[in-house]
Parts: sequence; C-alpha cells; structure tokens
Amino acid sequence: MKALVLNALGHGFDVEDVDIAAARGREALVNVQASGLCHTDLLFATHDIAPTPSVLGHEVAGIVAAVGPDVTHARVGDHVVGSLAQSCGACARCLSGRPFQCQHPESTLRRPDEPPRLSRNGRGVFQGFGLGGFAERALIHENQLAVVPKEMPFAQAALLGCGVVTGAGSVLNTANVRAGDSVVIFGAGGVGLNAVSGARIAGASRIIAIDIQQQRLDAARRFGATDVIDSTKSKPVEAVRDLLRSWWLMKDWPCLAWAAASIWSACRNPTSTSV
Ligand SMILES: [Zn+2]
Ligand SMILES: [Zn+2]
Repeated sequence: MKALVLNALGHGFDVEDVDIAAARGREALVNVQASGLCHTDLLFATHDIAPTPSVLGHEVAGIVAAVGPDVTHARVGDHVVGSLAQSCGACARCLSGRPFQCQHPESTLRRPDEPPRLSRNGRGVFQGFGLGGFAERALIHENQLAVVPKEMPFAQAALLGCGVVTGAGSVLNTANVRAGDSVVIFGAGGVGLNAVSGARIAGASRIIAIDIQQQRLDAARRFGATDVIDSTKSKPVEAVRDLLRSWWLMKDWPCLAWAAASIWSACRNPTSTSV
C-alpha cells in the first residue's frame, strides 16, 4: 500500500510502498478514508520523539475491511474513527471510567517479539500512536477504534480522534468544569474550539476564548463562546478581569451578598483550575 513515510527528521514525508500485516487477535484492518494533519504530527516530523522510519497520522477515519478473530466491537463494513488514547480496558483506571489514564497503553500495540504491523523491505516501520493514518490502510487494535454512524462525513469524523477528545477532554475530565463555572480558553485552534464545545456541554455560564486571529474568534463564537478577546488588541488577563467584573456588576443586588461570599470562599479555598 502507499503511505506517507517519515524517513528523517525535518525532511517531510515521502510517498512510498509499505507492507501492512493481516489482522490478528483484536486488530481491525481499516481502509482509510480521511486523515487529519495535527500539529503533533509536524512536531514528531521535526523533533526526536519517535523512531524513524515511521508512519504518522493520528486523526483517522475509515471503513473496516477485515477483523482479527478476537474482535468484538467492530464488524467489516463499519465506519470507524481511531483514537490516539491507548487503553487496555482491564486496569483499575480503565475499569473506573478513565481509559485516557490507562496504566498499560502499550497493550494496544504488538509486542516486540511479534512481526510488526508495518514494514518496508522486511524491516519494521514505526506506527505512530498505534494508528498510522497517513496511509491507504491502517491496522488498529479495536480498543483504539470507535464505530460512528455511516451518515457522518469521514473528514469531520476523523477530527474526533485527537482534536475533539483533547479539547473537550481537558475541560470535562481534567478541569472538571461544572455548570455555572467561568472558563477561559487561550487559543481557538482545533483543540481550543473543542475546549469551547466541552465547556458548553458542561454548562459553563461564561466561556471566554482568546486568540490573535479574528476568524478563529468568530469560529469560537459559533462553537459557544460567550465572549472573545483579540489579544493583539488588548491584554488578555486585564480583558478577562474586566469581563468578569462587569458580569458581577450586572447581577441583581440580592446576589451580591452571595457573590461576595463566593469570592471570599474562593480566595480562602482557590478552586480555579488551569489545564
Ligand atoms: Zn493530535
Ligand atoms: Zn487500562
């Protein structure tokens, strides 16, 4: 199959023929239909983080073409999205609903003593994040796949694999934003916009997005930001303070006592979270 291979750091990707193994165990062979280019791929392509040669690409959507004998979550013909979160499904964190903190993420990869999933001229090629979406096909453990509705467009579905889970996950799982909270999001790119979505889902009452590009700020409003700040025109910290101060002043007088108590409580027991 054809794949974009990273042969050397800083030299971009080369279109080359790469061999892909047959599905075994809990692996599914996916015919790739769309693959997003994340900044992390570019980081890996220019910094010494992962081995070369490698096939990167961790926002991948496609159609299941074959499954290993132990696969239970997906069937041939299913439309799937790959996830960069590797989880074993059996450790304490996976079983307590935190697969993104799995203690054995390597369990979705082949062991070193097994033949590699990807190879070229008989030598192994590193598969980025256990996905390798910059290729015509990808061989992926079923724990890194989610079946999606067939009416979902592949290009948009692919973004679920990294940008969406990273942005929304940071708000919902790490910052634990709750209904009524105020949230400030620095950067309204692919991840930041999904952080805005996560804050909206969590029920945050104020969602302030900060960026240096107007078109991104416009997108942030469409995603649910209540306020936007262009940090090329104003100092963001002062602007956030001004926004939240004016919000408090708009409150009814009876609420001021509650607000004062809340502020006093917040000062004594800071609960704001930065992610
Ligand atoms: Zn990414
Ligand atoms: Zn686990």
